Amino acid sequence: MKLNELTIKQAQEGLRKKEFSAVELAQACLDRIAELNDTLNVFLTVTAHEALEQAQKVDESIATGEDIAPLAGIPMSIKDIVVTKGIRTTAASKILENYIPPYSATVYQKLIDDGAVMLGKVNLDEFAHGASTENSAFGPTKNPWDTSRVPGGSSGGSAASVSADMCLFSIGTDTGGSIRFPAGFCSVVGVKPSYGRCSRLGLIAMTSSTDVPGPIAKTVEDSAIVLSRIAGCDHRDATTVDREVPDYEKELSRDMKGMKIGIVEEFLSDGIEQDVKHIIEQAIDQLSKMGAEIISLSLPTVPYAMAVYYVITPSEISSNLARFDGIRFGTSRHDQAKDLLDGYKRTRGEGFGAEAKRRIMMGTYALSSGYYDAYYRKAQKVRTKIVQEFQHAFSQVSAVVTPVSPHIPFKIGEKATDPVAMYLEDIYMSPPSLAGLPALSVPAGFIEKDGKQLPVGLQIIGPQFEEARILRVAHQYQMATPWHLQKPSLMTS
Ligand code: GLN
Repeated sequence: MKLNELTIKQAQEGLRKKEFSAVELAQACLDRIAELNDTLNVFLTVTAHEALEQAQKVDESIATGEDIAPLAGIPMSIKDIVVTKGIRTTAASKILENYIPPYSATVYQKLIDDGAVMLGKVNLDEFAHGASTENSAFGPTKNPWDTSRVPGGSSGGSAASVSADMCLFSIGTDTGGSIRFPAGFCSVVGVKPSYGRCSRLGLIAMTSSTDVPGPIAKTVEDSAIVLSRIAGCDHRDATTVDREVPDYEKELSRDMKGMKIGIVEEFLSDGIEQDVKHIIEQAIDQLSKMGAEIISLSLPTVPYAMAVYYVITPSEISSNLARFDGIRFGTSRHDQAKDLLDGYKRTRGEGFGAEAKRRIMMGTYALSSGYYDAYYRKAQKVRTKIVQEFQHAFSQVSAVVTPVSPHIPFKIGEKATDPVAMYLEDIYMSPPSLAGLPALSVPAGFIEKDGKQLPVGLQIIGPQFEEARILRVAHQYQMATPWHLQKPSLMTS
């Protein structure tokens, strides 16, 4: 096995036993990036020099027998919407093409303080608006399982970088599915923590009421290791909560006995591809064999989540993107403008891509006087009903499982001109986002298409702040199934 193919757990062992050095591990990942980045378009910025320097420091501390930090020498990639001091952060937008942040996001800083080695910044849909990574101003990322297909989005670069063994883990962000969805399409594990579990400080804001950062990794165990390091209260993000962070890794080993798993009737009836449905049913059977009791639930308001999401998020987006005015930071066209308004128009007209503009317009409309009550306010009311429906569901079950997506990974370009078809991909992802619940995606099998193996993900949703519980279900499931051991054929080419 090559070093870049290791899991975090394996790499931690190997480093501790001095079987290889942190520099060798970082170099193996950098070689893999050099080999594949032109094909997959994953990294927007590679920080090779800094990575090797950081790895060197880790090797020195290992050599002197110092107490080594929890993630010492573990190579990672970071979604390019998480600000990194001194390192270009673009949000995959032309408007931030040359933006060098003066500070670092809390989650990134925590990982660096824990000794993780940053390899670079990875692609996404512009400002995280999308489900395919095609909305990037720097071109689409390709799915490692079939390069004619999308990796999912918006954290497509994160999921592809982990799936193609370019790094050991990545940090993505999830507003309405952006960690779970690409993790499902790339057959890796993606965890969206509860809203308030991990600091949003330094995430370039998309939808402030649902944005959360979280890990994408090769196994549930690795995700638990990373989540334990990034979770916690941050006095610079008032929406984080001061609750104890469990040792998620320790919690994994308890079995499934006594667990009640809910399945949502509404989600397994219409609109789902039969092959995907079949795989999800097999996964549910597997959970039942492992001792879980399966309970069928009806959540009648939850199918409206997607409509609610596409009123609330554009509203918040239109407000959050107002700061990109060409005056304070980022690309500016004010020098070519005849007056201030013309400067805004040129900067924003040239700087934003089509999807960001669409959302600014939809959001501005939904918030405008006369429409606010009919759209934004109504959507917030339905959101409250969704929260209540989940609360009621969790009085009956320990966790809820759904598919990640109703479809297999689709072809690049297939949905690019049909925004509604793209939005519909979020149907199972947006409900837990609106309710602030923890949810994850775990590999659940493959569908063969055009001679390629295309991944299918299982979503597991838990009550607020019960990350440990969903990680445990996912880990037990992963231990009983072989899906995470399968690698895209890029690996053997
Ligand atoms: N696909 C969703 C959207 O386009 C989710 C995005 C996200 O979670 N950042 O809004």
